[in-house]
Order: sequence, then structure tokens, then C-alpha cells
Amino acid sequence: MLEAKQSERKTQSLQEENKELEDYIKSLENSLDISSFKGKPLSQVKNKFRTLETFLSRAQTALWFANSFGIELESLSVKESDTGVIHKVSCLPNSSNSISQSAEGEDRYSSLSEDQKRKVQQILFLLDKFCVGDLFYHEISMITDSLPRSYLVKQCREQLNKMCHIEALEGNFEGGKVSSVETVFKEHISDFLKQNPDFDTINDKIKIKINGDGARMTRDSNFILLSFSTLQTGESVMSAKGNRTIGIVNGTEGYQTIKVSFGSLFKEINSLIDSAKLTVDGHDLNTEFYFGGDYKFILLMLGLKGATSNHACAWCKVHKADCWNTSDNYLIYNTPPMVRTLEEIREMSTTSKDNYCCDKQPLLNIPLDHIVVDELHLMLRVTDILIENLVNECLDWDGEDDLDKKRGKQSRHTSKT
Ligand SMILES: [Zn+2]
Repeated sequence: MLEAKQSERKTQSLQEENKELEDYIKSLENSLDISSFKGKPLSQVKNKFRTLETFLSRAQTALWFANSFGIELESLSVKESDTGVIHKVSCLPNSSNSISQSAEGEDRYSSLSEDQKRKVQQILFLLDKFCVGDLFYHEISMITDSLPRSYLVKQCREQLNKMCHIEALEGNFEGGKVSSVETVFKEHISDFLKQNPDFDTINDKIKIKINGDGARMTRDSNFILLSFSTLQTGESVMSAKGNRTIGIVNGTEGYQTIKVSFGSLFKEINSLIDSAKLTVDGHDLNTEFYFGGDYKFILLMLGLKGATSNHACAWCKVHKADCWNTSDNYLIYNTPPMVRTLEEIREMSTTSKDNYCCDKQPLLNIPLDHIVVDELHLMLRVTDILIENLVNECLDWDGEDDLDKKRGKQSRHTSKT
């Protein structure tokens, strides 16, 4: 009985204490003005910005102790409880868009800080590298709130695209080309001059090599690329960095395709070849042009018939039936009447008889001794044929040996190779 009374008294005193504390909290709330929010829920207000601002100022007050942890409140992400729309609220004092749900369209990307820009650029790089579409990124950025908005990525790409000018090709070909070859040359050479300050701009010549090649991409698409490099750059000629693409077309690797689609490129390059001068950063540079590619591409550019025609050599007029003859000094192939010249090809292509397979007009005015066939392509073909010969030889040899061979025994020479 006594015990029950005691505990009752205890409860009463506790309740009183609680009441006192509650009142104290209320008075504290009032003094700090952090009573619970009386306005409409966020999903129903029109000016979400203002509501979020109010929320943010209170949240910052509530999280006053963040500093004592040595951390700074950067952003908060909140979800409307009834609609599920997510808002990211930035708390940084200097950020102009403290609420990142802002209008699209205007160029927000430029106003980002360097750090944020770098993040967007990294995302764009990854999207490009793994061929992820904009729509996918948009969707994923909507459900994860730490990713930058998709329009920022688009604006970043637009800004990068502004740095180079690409035009459509002539004719109805799919592909693109640079708007001015001269500008691209100048940029590239200017870079080269900066890296090689001891280059003699008066006596030396800048050697520009135009490259072309066809590449099969998929079963039904075939790309032809036209690029250039400056030969003096040494090692980087071999790398992607030293080569700049000036045109690309999706089409069959044929004379008509190249002539029509790259027509204006060739015109511009030819006029640059004629002038043999290029003004870069105030220097008047002398230029020398080269052309390279695989054998097929060289024949195409010269307007010659294919590699199996009667006079398939790009540099002389030897008949394919006489190619085996190595008894003559090679000089006779390099001197008239055997040697070809660009003028002669141009002339012969107008006649249909005795034209030594000169079919069409050459596309570039680059002299034949400045045309080089790719070593790699040559070597691969030569080694292919040599290995094929070796294998055939072994097969024949085994064939002879095997006439009196027992069943089940391996052919000796083929297995050895
Ligand atoms: Zn020849």
C-alpha cells in the first residue's frame, strides 16, 4: 500500500517535471522561431523556391553542430512525401543557384565552378566512351540525386563542339569534313612551332603528308578517312595525336565517292600546294606536300585502274606480264619513257586507247615521287604471300612423300611448319 502510494507520487512529480520541460521547450521554440511549419506541403505550393529556402534556413539552424564535427553542410536532398519528386538544396553561401531545380535552356554550364565543370566533363567523357545515350543519362540523373542534371552535360558538349567546325559533305554522302583545311593546318603547325622553337622557318620546309584509307566498320558501312600529319613531328606522326582528320565519308571506297564527297577539300589542298606557302603566327612558311595510303587508295587518288590491271604500277608503265623481270637495272623504271608523271597521267586519262590504265583525272596535285605507299600494308601483303608459298610448298612435298605412306601416319613437312 505504502509502496503504491510512493510510486504514484513519484509518477506525479515526474509528470510535473515533464510538463515543465515541455513548456520550456515551447518557450525555446518561440524564442528561436522554429515552430513547425504552418504552410502548405511543398507539392502543393507554386513557388517551391521560397518554401525550400525557408526549409533550408531552418535546417541549417537545426544542424548547427555540423561545424563541431569539422564538416560543412553542402547540400541537402529532400523528397516530397506524396509525389516523390526529389529536390536538391544547395547550402553553399556563394552558389548563385542555391536551389538546383532551375530552368533549362539558358547556359548554366558556363556559370559552374571549375570543379563542377570538370565533373560534368568527366561524365560526358564516360557517356561517350561507353556509348550511353542522353535519354538514359537523363533518366538515371532523375532517380539518383548526386549526378549533375542532363542539360548540363548537353551544354558541356555544345561548348566543346563549338571549338571545331564540321560541315556536311558535298553530294548525298553521309559524313563530315572540316570547314577550312587551311585553318586546321595552321593550328597544327602552330602547335608544332611552339614545341620546336629552333625550327628554321626561313630555309626549312614544313612537310605535310595527306593520308587516306578506307576502313570497314560494320557489315554494311565502310568509312573513308582523309587525314594529315606533319612529318617533322617525329614519333607522334605514328600516333593518333599527330594525325588530324579532315574528312570522313561513309561509302564504298571508289573514285566517284571520294571525288564528289571530298571535292572541296581537294580543291583547297590543291590551291595550298600551288601556293607552297602558309602563314602561321606571322611566319611565312614553305610547305611540301606528301601523300600516303595503302596501294588501293593511291591508285584511286591517281585515277588509275585497279591493282590487277595491266599497268598497275603507280610510278611506272611496266606491263604486269613483265613485272617478274629483275634483270634490268631499276633505273629504267625511274626514267622516261618508262616512268609515269602526274602530267602524263592527266593527259592519258583523256584518251581511251594506249593510256596505260590511266582512267580518270588525279585528285591531288602531288608529284609521284612524293607519294609513298604504307609500309605496313606492303609488308603484311608480302609476308602473307611468302607464308602462303611456304605452306603450299610443304603440302606439295608431303603429297609426294605420302604416295607410299602408311595410313594414320602424320604428314611430316606440314606438321613441322
Ligand atoms: Zn613500277
